[in-house]
Amino acid sequence: MVGKAYIYIRVSSEEQVSNNSLDTQEKTCRDYCQRENIDVVRVFRDEGESAKTMKRSQLKMMLDSCVNAKKLGITHVVIFKSDRIARNVNDYSVIGAILRKNGITLVSPLEAFDDTASGKLYGNILASFAQYDNDARSERTKMGMIEGLNQGQWMWRAPVGYRRGLMPNEPSLVIDAELKQLIEMGFVRVSQGVAKDAVLRELTSLGLRTKAGRKMSKQSFNELLRNPLYAGRVVSKKLNVDRIGDFEPIVSEELFNSVQEQRTSRKSNAKQRNLDNPDFPLRRWVQCGECLTPMTGSWSTGRPKKYPYYHCRNKDCQKVNVRKEYLETLFIELLDEKSVAPQMLKLMEEVVREMWKERHKLANEIVRKVEKQIEEMKLKQDRLMDLYISGKGITEDQFVKTSSDLEREMVELRLSKDRESIVEVDIDGVIEFAQSMLLDLPKCWNRLEPQRRPQFLRAMIPNGATYSNGVIGTVESPWFVMGLNSVPTTNAALAPPTGFEPVPPP
Ligand SMILES: [Zn+2]
Repeated sequence: MVGKAYIYIRVSSEEQVSNNSLDTQEKTCRDYCQRENIDVVRVFRDEGESAKTMKRSQLKMMLDSCVNAKKLGITHVVIFKSDRIARNVNDYSVIGAILRKNGITLVSPLEAFDDTASGKLYGNILASFAQYDNDARSERTKMGMIEGLNQGQWMWRAPVGYRRGLMPNEPSLVIDAELKQLIEMGFVRVSQGVAKDAVLRELTSLGLRTKAGRKMSKQSFNELLRNPLYAGRVVSKKLNVDRIGDFEPIVSEELFNSVQEQRTSRKSNAKQRNLDNPDFPLRRWVQCGECLTPMTGSWSTGRPKKYPYYHCRNKDCQKVNVRKEYLETLFIELLDEKSVAPQMLKLMEEVVREMWKERHKLANEIVRKVEKQIEEMKLKQDRLMDLYISGKGITEDQFVKTSSDLEREMVELRLSKDRESIVEVDIDGVIEFAQSMLLDLPKCWNRLEPQRRPQFLRAMIPNGATYSNGVIGTVESPWFVMGLNSVPTTNAALAPPTGFEPVPPP
């Protein structure tokens, strides 16, 4: 055999310590070339990269220069073993085709394969084995992964707020204390109903960053809020695993769940609002007393003036038809006969006080943190100024740019401090006012914004009411709503003069 050759060698990671080092490989290949009378033109060495894909840079360089093989007189590519060049049959075929097209023969000192039919088959068989080995390895990895997951270990890259546990006695994830505080705050805020965009802005100004050190996108923040990992659970739908993690959660299960509920209820509220018509607050809540179909509201087509009325929308019934003002007056009287139980008022007070305290605590923490950051920022500015004045190390351009960057960050921080500083509120006064409202439900109803009324209705009298023949009645109230008398409300004095026709206002 006479010719010119490229040698391509690569070391796989498990070989780096054994005797198949690159130097050994190169020597074996060079010896082979000498025996076969082949001149070695160039050696391509891929150091310690996996053979999994064709991305290896030296391999790519070698294949590129094989295109000019004829001009350069290259006749052979010498490799140590077939698994050096490709670990899957496809890659092997592609590489083989490139070499063949350029009239190059692939040879190995350890394996007999060449361009004859049996040589190709042998090469393909070897490549198949290499692929089998690779597949088995991924399978083992997958099995190992499932086993780890079942033991509550997190098997992937650590998410924001955690780092991988590296020591043998550490759990699979270890909390980053700084970020934990921010993430927890994010969950609390969203559970309180603060808009997610606002929460993300706030956390960003306090230093929330991705693993790569960039500002977190809305999408990533959404994913973070959905990730049960933060409540201490290891979940993989794909691998059908849901376990308690071996690591410490950042938020409680309750807080996590309440954020998930917040997310879904926001969606359904948005849908609900479209259905509720402020002209007809009792629409769908009040049912036809004859057929129990929820009633709807419309404007009459009557002349000379249109007027609003509620009516049964069941085409086979349509027996009930009542002027809006009339039905709503009855309803106010119904409310007047109900009151909120004292226990509920007490509970409300406790909840409001607790939330207020929590809000205060959180706000104070944030303000303290922001103040600290502002202090650090000032120090940085001072240092920058010293550096500039001393005339050492930085140019005027650098100084101007860095100093305006710092200034911008300061403005951000001051804004977020202002946002957090709570306006003092007379909390006792607020509670007293809320309680007096709940004691006088008609007043409460009248003062509610129209779009809040359906919500109030569903809370106070969730099962709705029926109406027919001038009588409005409710089935059942939740525990905290007491009826002042137990029979369904009737009001003979307000009985409409006609049964099914739209009734003029009383
Ligand atoms: Zn009906």
